[in-house]
Amino acid sequence: MKPDYDLYFKDAIETVKREGRYREFADILRQAGQFPCAKNYKTGQEVVVWCSNDYLGMGQNPDVIEACVATTKATGVGSGGTRNISGNSHSIMALEKELSNLHHKEASLVFTSGYVANDTTLTTLGHIMPDMVYLSDELNHASMIHGMRNSRRERLVYRHNDMTHLEELLASLPLNSPKVIACEAIYSMEGDISKLKDICDLADKYNAMTYLDEVHAVGMYGPTGAGIAEQLGVMHRISLIQGTLAKAFGVIGGYISGSATLIDAIRSYAPGFIFTTSLPPALAEAARISIQTVKSTPELRAKLHERVATLKSKLRSTNISFIDEPSHIMPVLVGNAVLCKEISKILLDEFSIYVQAINYPTVPKGAERLRITPTPLHTDQMMDDLVSALKDIFTRQCLSHAA
Ligand code: PLP
Repeated sequence: MKPDYDLYFKDAIETVKREGRYREFADILRQAGQFPCAKNYKTGQEVVVWCSNDYLGMGQNPDVIEACVATTKATGVGSGGTRNISGNSHSIMALEKELSNLHHKEASLVFTSGYVANDTTLTTLGHIMPDMVYLSDELNHASMIHGMRNSRRERLVYRHNDMTHLEELLASLPLNSPKVIACEAIYSMEGDISKLKDICDLADKYNAMTYLDEVHAVGMYGPTGAGIAEQLGVMHRISLIQGTLAKAFGVIGGYISGSATLIDAIRSYAPGFIFTTSLPPALAEAARISIQTVKSTPELRAKLHERVATLKSKLRSTNISFIDEPSHIMPVLVGNAVLCKEISKILLDEFSIYVQAINYPTVPKGAERLRITPTPLHTDQMMDDLVSALKDIFTRQCLSHAA
């Protein structure tokens, strides 16, 4: 009998619906110059967005928009193909130079997203070093896990940020065998910061390379916005820094920065570089201008951290439970998929506040949350509105649970 293909798909959808984690996203119309306000397309109402990863609002920065528009007009829309087939656009070369300057590395390589950068680089590192072992933080992002899995190399997972466990695992391996410690600078769902100095010390002691995902830190931490490694003074000790152009830099694309030899080797073997069309020149140029702007505007970082501190102190004065780590990511814990979606819906429908519910598999089941990310552009009034809406909803939920 012919397989009932539709049934497979219906069953898959039913499963997520049954578990209360069917994904529904608001239809948001961003309006240049209005961030963090946007329009709920369905209702026409203006909403305040509290869950954007455009952490500094650079996606609507006039100079970045102008760079994108002017380059599109000058060079066209697409990039014309993979770099293997169509060559390098000058804009991508200039962007890679900018990234190398930012991270004080010899070379950089741009990919179409941060996801692709992690996935293909970690796969390729494993292929280039067939006898290597990965040591991976248990909370590493899916793109890192997929890359390490695809490499088919051994992967030892250490408990999150647990340096004793990492050392135990390192010590279990021959001192002179190749190993790569892979971690994030800021963990995107918890908002906590990696113990990078300790990781670098352990890497030195056990002859390991270090691979650092700075996706949620570039632009926002360190004197020039190069990330947590810069802030902690260990940037020169990281073998390979990976980042995104899509979050604090407000555009799209991902990259790695490291030694010229390492970058050249990845460039020569990585399927996610070789077999996919490169980033269009206009986006590369927009990203380059964004990096330059962010780098030379420390006030933007100061403002971000002041806004984060203000919202945290407002939230601390309530009994709303949130993960209070020293970063700009503020997860409010809900711990139930259905409730999390319901709170997000009430925030949008009744209070014109958009905070997306974060459910499994982005976080483990039972750890559902609202992930709040203040930016330099959120005002005191917006914060008061958010806190008061959360208080109202959480009180109602407590009452309905107690009833
Ligand atoms: N690394 C981490 C830690 C992330 O959270 C994400 C995405 O949110 C990525 C990598 C992927 O980056 P991009 O959105 O540029 O694909």
